Amino acid sequence: MEFTYSALPARVVFGAGRRADVPAELDRLGITRALVITTADQSETCATFAAAIGDRLGAIYPGAVMHTPVQVTEAAMRQAEQMNCDGILAIGGGSTIGLGKAIAWRTDMPQLVVPTTYAGSEMTPILGQTEQGLKTTLRSPKVLPETVIYDPDLTLTLPGAISGPSGMNAIAHAVEALYAEDANPVISLMAEDSIRALAGALPRIMADGADRAARELALYGSWLAGTCLGAVGMALHHKICHTLGGSFDLNHADVHCLMIPYSTAYNRDAAPAAMAAISRALGGGDPAEELYALMRRVGRKTSLADFGLTEAQLDRAADLAVQNPYYNPRPVTRDAVRGMLQAAFEGRRP
Ligand code: NAD
Repeated sequence: MEFTYSALPARVVFGAGRRADVPAELDRLGITRALVITTADQSETCATFAAAIGDRLGAIYPGAVMHTPVQVTEAAMRQAEQMNCDGILAIGGGSTIGLGKAIAWRTDMPQLVVPTTYAGSEMTPILGQTEQGLKTTLRSPKVLPETVIYDPDLTLTLPGAISGPSGMNAIAHAVEALYAEDANPVISLMAEDSIRALAGALPRIMADGADRAARELALYGSWLAGTCLGAVGMALHHKICHTLGGSFDLNHADVHCLMIPYSTAYNRDAAPAAMAAISRALGGGDPAEELYALMRRVGRKTSLADFGLTEAQLDRAADLAVQNPYYNPRPVTRDAVRGMLQAAFEGRRP
């Protein structure tokens, strides 16, 4: 056994109703005038939090959007400056959390994050942002939120059509953590339990979005998955999803959800220990086939053709995916990637 493990600092407060801890956690971080951010869709939730924090409220900015465009970050920062904000309270999914991180990157303000999806960004020191249509990614301890409050009750309103793919996005972080170049035993334990929790919870959530025990289990799994994503490097799956999502403007979670069975199949023979862990977490069987069955139960798109892509676009995606070398347990070749994309295009069993 040989590994290097760097644990990232994070304070995690977990439990149904724990959103009531927000004022005390703001105090703990020394935030006296919070900039409260969320998406327009969640502005009502934002208003509830703004009311709950009383005189700790500095300003409200319910303008977060996907892909963290720099002009949105700048508009939010102007608001923060005008109102003398000294910290960030972000309530929402990856898009809202991305905005909070982008502001923290520029100002070093502390962040209290209350995630409401399963994307996992709150546990990572990674920030993706777009400027003039170009997406760039950076990694810095400055963007890692100081405190995260997970309250599963806040996910009860997340529709099944978003919950399923968002949960599969989290599973994808855990799957790739198991065969990461810098994998380590602690993160592998988290990854396996993350897959177990999410695979158990997601079908229950699809059947009944108000199942509080399933919501709790899914949020627990997504916390673990986010920790995995923040701690070790990802491989082909994240690369191909980034390429497909970025080049053809596809929904982030839907692409992850569809592709994870296919990228798992790609690496099937090259990462036996990881495959054994995934299989255990899924209750036995072939990991790629089990993930395929799960994807078909909880996803809203079940082939790349469903996204409206053409076969010519698959050629382009395969070209892009092999342009810059990166780690993957099985060598990444253009023909093999193109074959994987064809299977996903047809929605074939992997
Ligand atoms: P999202 O944040 O865009 O949310 C999707 C939609 O669901 C939004 O309209 C939002 O308002 C709504 N929503 C969120 N929570 C809700 C709730 N509880 N009830 C009702 N509606 C709710 O989507 P996402 O999948 O969470 O995040 C995707 C983004 O996060 C992508 O841009 C991705 O690149 C980024 N991301 C970044 C990292 C990282 O480490 N930097 C990790 C994962 C994802």
